Amino acid sequence: MGYFLGVIVFLIGLLLGSFFNVCIYRIPREQSIIFPPSYCTSCCKRLTWRDLIPVFSWIFLGGKCRYCKQRISYRYPLIELTTGLIFLLLYIEFGISGTFLTYSILCSILIIATVIDIEHQIIPNGLVITGTVAGIALTLAGLSVNWKDALIGILAGGGTFLLVAFLSQLILKKEGMGGGDIKLMAMIGLMIGWKLTILTILVSVYAGGLVGGLLLLCGIKKRGDAIPYGPFIAAGTIVSVLFGDELILWYLNLFL
Ligand SMILES: [Zn+2]
Repeated sequence: MGYFLGVIVFLIGLLLGSFFNVCIYRIPREQSIIFPPSYCTSCCKRLTWRDLIPVFSWIFLGGKCRYCKQRISYRYPLIELTTGLIFLLLYIEFGISGTFLTYSILCSILIIATVIDIEHQIIPNGLVITGTVAGIALTLAGLSVNWKDALIGILAGGGTFLLVAFLSQLILKKEGMGGGDIKLMAMIGLMIGWKLTILTILVSVYAGGLVGGLLLLCGIKKRGDAIPYGPFIAAGTIVSVLFGDELILWYLNLFL
C-alpha cells in the first residue's frame, strides 16, 4: 500500500511539474496560467496529450517540437522529474499528512520561484501571496505549525533578511537583499516555523557562499556580478524540511 501510494504521489508530482513549467513560462510574461491550453512557444501550435506526457514525450520526441522541430529545453523534463522526486521524498518522510500537504505546497512555490528568479531576477508577488494565504489557512486548520511558531517564523525569516538589507544599505551603500527575497523568506517562516527557518537561512548562506565562490573561481561570474539568491533560499528550505531534525541534532552534537 505504501509503495503504491508512493508511485501515485510521484506521478502526481510529474504532472504538477509539467504545470509548473507552464507557470514558469507564463507568470513573468503576465499571461494567464490556465488559458489558453499548452502550446509550443516557438510555432504556437496547440499541444495534444501525446506531447504533454511528463518526461516521456520529451524523450520520444528527441527533445524537439513534433510540429516545428524547434529544440525544447532539457529544463522541461528536469523540472518535472525534480518535482516528482521532491514529492516522493516528502511522502516517504511525512506520509499523507498536514505536514506533507504544507511542504508540498511550499516546495511547489519554491520550484516555480527559483526558475523565474534565475531567468528574470524577480520573485513574482503573486507566488508569495499564494503561499502566504495557503500558509495562514493551513495554520488555522491545524495542519501546519501552530500560530505562535508561524508568527515567530515570519519574524525570524523576514526580519533577518530585512535587517541584512537595512545594514548593507547603511554600511555598503548597496542593495544586499532584494525585496522579493525578504517577502519569500517571511512566507517560508510562516510555513515551516522558526527553528527550520533559522536552519534554512544558515544552509542558504553556506550554499550561496560556496556556489558564489565556485562561480568566481571558474570565471563564470565576475566580482560584483549579481547572483540571484532565491535558488539558495529554495535549496536551503528543501534541505531543512527533509533533513532538518537530523541536521539540527548533528549541529548541536558538534558543540555539546
Ligand atoms: Zn513548435
